[in-house]
Amino acid sequence: MQDTLKRIHKMDARLANQIAAGEVVERPASIVKELVENSLDAGADDIEISLQEGGIKLIRIKDNGTGIHKEDLALALSRHATSKITHIEDLHRISTLGFRGEALPSISSVSRLKLISRPPGADNAWQVEGDGREIETTVKPASHAQGTTVEVQDLFFNTPARKRFLRSERTEFSQCEEVLKRLALGALNVKFTLLHNQRPVKHWPKALNDSDYQQRLAGILGQLFSEQNLAVNYTLSGLRLWGWLGLPTIARNQGDQQYFFVNGRTIRDRLLNFHVKRAYADVLYQSRYPAYVLYLELDPEMVDVNAHPTKLEVRFREAKTIHDFIYQAVRKSLAHTSPNTSVLRHSSALQELPQHFFAPQGVPSGFPTTVQTSLPLQTREPMASYASLTPADVGRLPSIGPNSATIPPLGYAIAQLHGTYLLAENPDGIVLVDIHAAHERLLYEKLKTDFENAGIKTQLLLLPLLLSVSEGEAQWVEDQPEFWRNLGIGVERSAPTGLLIREIPALLKHQDIEQLVRDILSDMQSQEVSDTVQNRMLGILSTMACHHAVRAHHLLNKEEMNALLRQMENSERSNQCSHGRPTWVQLTKADLDRFFLRGR
Ligand code: ADP
Ligand code: MG
Repeated sequence: MQDTLKRIHKMDARLANQIAAGEVVERPASIVKELVENSLDAGADDIEISLQEGGIKLIRIKDNGTGIHKEDLALALSRHATSKITHIEDLHRISTLGFRGEALPSISSVSRLKLISRPPGADNAWQVEGDGREIETTVKPASHAQGTTVEVQDLFFNTPARKRFLRSERTEFSQCEEVLKRLALGALNVKFTLLHNQRPVKHWPKALNDSDYQQRLAGILGQLFSEQNLAVNYTLSGLRLWGWLGLPTIARNQGDQQYFFVNGRTIRDRLLNFHVKRAYADVLYQSRYPAYVLYLELDPEMVDVNAHPTKLEVRFREAKTIHDFIYQAVRKSLAHTSPNTSVLRHSSALQELPQHFFAPQGVPSGFPTTVQTSLPLQTREPMASYASLTPADVGRLPSIGPNSATIPPLGYAIAQLHGTYLLAENPDGIVLVDIHAAHERLLYEKLKTDFENAGIKTQLLLLPLLLSVSEGEAQWVEDQPEFWRNLGIGVERSAPTGLLIREIPALLKHQDIEQLVRDILSDMQSQEVSDTVQNRMLGILSTMACHHAVRAHHLLNKEEMNALLRQMENSERSNQCSHGRPTWVQLTKADLDRFFLRGR
């Protein structure tokens, strides 16, 4: 034993930096993130990123920020050197993206780094170099406009073991690109230029107003997103959520277009994404992922940004309040998707829809073919209330002029096509409605309203159900009687690890109650909220709506068709069925002209 006893010694600075580099410098993309964040912290509004061989050979970031004082240049490359915090209290109100003073020394310990900077008022620029071993302390004059350039060459040249973990040039480049997309969405008012192997790849000009924003969104998330989004802007006691929500119709197969920023910092937080997705529940099929760009702004004191080495996760004080706020803000914004409240943006997306839109898996393919009887389309009342708007003879429409103020957004019905679609004419052009999908949505919204107004009806179980759970879970049930009562579940603790269920929501009487209660307990454990009961109930209402909605090939008369249009205009979330498919599309006159090559 004796001769194998290992002695303790201090690591030299270089080894310590290389080890620390493991946390922040994983690949070129992580360097791009750190360096661009430094440029943003320096107040730059013009940043040029130029890469070679996916960033492995070279990463050069040039900015027009405040620069670094000549005397501080060498210091900037040494460990734990920062201009951003001085006292521990500063950590509680961080307004910069960086603060750990680790990026530059870590990067320079695993690459050949050159730092050139010129602060305002300086006669010329100065530069320092680090070659991975030690920082050359001689500061040499250089030429540079006001601002800073950081050049990182030959990443991992001195740590070959780490270099082996790098992927192909293409993969590393696309990771850099993804990081830049996030940074560019986080700093809309900054101009970004990206070059790869000397070729210009991306150019995002400064975005200062809404139309610029839409352009940047189009550049980063694609044209479809910029055409099919809803703006969000909610403020509540010190919390603000703003940004853009992709309409359910452009939801994706994976969560690759979910951008969330907290006080300007990009965050990848499972819980935040979960609460946004939760708010989409009613307009989106479970397995689809919404696209969004959201900015949460709040008092820096409410956030702990020092919770993760790459700062991709944050901790909130009063997390539950914040999560609830996000959920409510997104949900409310999404409720405003009816033809009356949303811009008619459907048209130009029409050509792209078939490519991007996949029918969600699991949607019942053959809808039951029972003829609807019990919930007939209500035409009498709505027709009466719209009588004044409807021309006397809806069958023979007066020709619709562009400034007919009284024409409702979806216009007037002309015909039913193939038993399935409704054709209508409005001042913009023509409208096609999926009759079943639209009617199903309307019924669903109505069932929900009725249901919410009536409150949860409960029913006693003939035989109370005994459930054995962990002691912690049993205790939790005992401590939260209110929570269970609100769900319509009568449950009590009957033993240290036993629950007794006596009462359940009437609507769920055919469900597996034991599984339901277990699901709720596990939801509460993992995410602090449980939508299980609500989702199951909504699921049942949604099935009811589907079964009672007008079947294909059920012929409607003009009054019924117009009544359907009018109800769609006045019902929340009527732009898509509960699985996120659109219920209607607009073809503008311009679209029609294009089909026939008119005006060319
Ligand atoms: P941190 O950002 O956590 O302070 P860094 O190692 O990333 O640590 O940077 C160290 C310091 O160097 C920063 O605090 C800042 O003062 C200075 N610095 C780095 N990059 C720039 C830049 N592009 N412009 C101006 N100053 C910079
Ligand atoms: Mg930094």
